[in-house]
Amino acid sequence: MRTPFIAGNWKMNKTLDTAKEFMQEVAGQLPDPTEVETAIAAPYLFIESMMEVQTDKTLKIGAENCYFEDSGAYTGEISPLMLADMGVHYTIIGHSERRKYFNETDDIINKKILAVYRNHMVPILCCNETMGRRESGEKIHWVVSQVAAALKGVSEEDAKSVVIAYEPSWAIGTGDSATADQAEEGCYLIRQTIADLYSDELADGIRVLYGGSVTPKNVVGLMAKQNIDGILAGGSSLKSESFIQLANYQK
Ligand code: 13P
Repeated sequence: MRTPFIAGNWKMNKTLDTAKEFMQEVAGQLPDPTEVETAIAAPYLFIESMMEVQTDKTLKIGAENCYFEDSGAYTGEISPLMLADMGVHYTIIGHSERRKYFNETDDIINKKILAVYRNHMVPILCCNETMGRRESGEKIHWVVSQVAAALKGVSEEDAKSVVIAYEPSWAIGTGDSATADQAEEGCYLIRQTIADLYSDELADGIRVLYGGSVTPKNVVGLMAKQNIDGILAGGSSLKSESFIQLANYQK
């Protein structure tokens, strides 16, 4: 039984005050985590304050990225050790914006995934798909290769907890979500890749999310699909009202 997971990715948005306000506004409005788990990946600077103002532990506060070394002369970077020490559980790794604007390669993403596990956290691994690749029929190869490369050297024990998000970049921030069928197809492909890399049993247990222009309007249709266990929302996670609606999609 896979617990549905509604996660938000704030990207480079909000201020400390509006981040804390969000925490106050969602307090008591989110589902029981044993029924629907919720998380927000926030800018590093806000994480500690968001945890401090939290009155219960319903919403998990995560990070949007981290470096792959635990410490050292890497000016400006944030290490997985620092995040783990602050009580962070989830961190997004390999978002398409990191791949595109910060030149993150499969190799860098693999190092980051290993670093997250080394520090006893859990990665939300993002896989991209461009429209060009989709139309050229190459998408299967690309999604599979991103998952395989990212999880190179990850033990079966660690892989059991991985969360993977299918996030076609053509659907991100465009207001033009993948259809539920397209999203299901991508999520199914990811689960099959995990079955090939590990086992059917392990693949059956992991959670696969869809991300790209998800709103309170289209969330129900997406979540009805067999291989979509959750959502990674950008824009709709910024306002407490829409995030609460996403999280309570079952009501
Ligand atoms: P939008 O929901 O704004 O399309 O962003 C999706 C995303 O990139 C989540 O990581």
